[in-house]
Amino acid sequence: MEVNQGRGIGAAGGNDRLPAVQELEQLIETWEGLAVLTHFDKPTGTWIFICIHDNTLGPSTGGTRIATYASPADGLLDGMRLSAGMTHKWAAANLGFGGAKAVLAVPHPMAGDERQGLLSRYAGMINLLSGNFLTGEDMGITPEDMEFLARHTDHLHGYDVNGRKVDPSPYTARGVLTGIKTALERKFGEPSVHGRTVVVQGAGNVGGHLIRMLTAEGAEVLIADVDRERARNLASECNARLIDDRSGASGGNGSEVFSTECDVFAPCAVGAILNQETIPRLACPIVAGSANNQLEEPEDVERLRERGILWAPDYIVNAGGAISFAYLGKGISEPAELFDKVDSIGTTLAEIFREAEDRNESTLAAAERRVARTLERERG
Ligand code: NAD
Repeated sequence: MEVNQGRGIGAAGGNDRLPAVQELEQLIETWEGLAVLTHFDKPTGTWIFICIHDNTLGPSTGGTRIATYASPADGLLDGMRLSAGMTHKWAAANLGFGGAKAVLAVPHPMAGDERQGLLSRYAGMINLLSGNFLTGEDMGITPEDMEFLARHTDHLHGYDVNGRKVDPSPYTARGVLTGIKTALERKFGEPSVHGRTVVVQGAGNVGGHLIRMLTAEGAEVLIADVDRERARNLASECNARLIDDRSGASGGNGSEVFSTECDVFAPCAVGAILNQETIPRLACPIVAGSANNQLEEPEDVERLRERGILWAPDYIVNAGGAISFAYLGKGISEPAELFDKVDSIGTTLAEIFREAEDRNESTLAAAERRVARTLERERG
């Protein structure tokens, strides 16, 4: 994410105002989503965009991201792309939600009264939509922010029957684990991770849970994280190994995280890590991880196919948190029951793998067709 370079966010005047306005106009003119509720929060200089992408299957639902962008248009573009991704994620799971995402494009990091003022005005915007938009956490939102928002709006998701906020990460990790097993079964006829080598990039909220789950089931895990201390702690807790990363940058394209031989590469950090430079270096038959937007460009899915690498589409395999939230909304709070629901990702993914093979196409094409079918059926 770029830092704010002063081009637009918070700046009402200035020589470059017109191009910024044109950028916004162009984005809105070309977007295929339903609507964007936009507000400029004068006290903090924050652009707020609630991007409602689709409501075919139910209320438009997606997280709220707080970040600093180079321009308001960059924030809007991020919100638009993420909300379209949510439509895909929800339609693939087919659980009665549409896609949305909100972006609070802040000009600088905020704390205390300034942050709470912004959040309370944002909650007012959520309330304007009367339950047609439901939201939860995304990048830049803290548990304290969620607690504060909950005092100002009822239109949040991810709460258990006792009104406690639930952390989606263990459920997302469980979905990735199920996805890895489904991919192993497809490639080798055997889903067990026992004895398999898995490289996990990113030992954060999702990666940390995934590493614990994998090692508990007997997998050999190799960890790469730019936060060396976090990686080291997890490695010693779980008896996993660190990637011997002589490039010194666990995430960069030069990193050995891509060329380390393994059965599964599980990207659980940043997006765009599958690209022209990294794909030729991969030394694994399977890629399945939680990171959003793993492909840098659409052609990358063909690059993976040409190398015979089975890719589990990110929005299918990382839907565990979303699925658990959908069932929390139906009154199911028991973690074991929620984990069972998340395991439906395995069935969905197996069907996608089969369809892709039958049609001799990429797993992404099969996933997209599944989404289109679900939406078309509902639209009639
Ligand atoms: P997080 O911020 O808790 O963890 C990310 C970890 O990746 C951190 O430890 C960070 O140090 C590390 N990292 C960052 N850049 C890196 C790089 N270039 N190379 C190696 N490590 C790097 O985030 P998270 O909640 O665990 O989410 C991880 C990914 O999964 C993100 O792409 C997120 O959008 C996606 N995702 C998360 C959830 C969820 O439930 N949290 C749900 C769906 C998708």
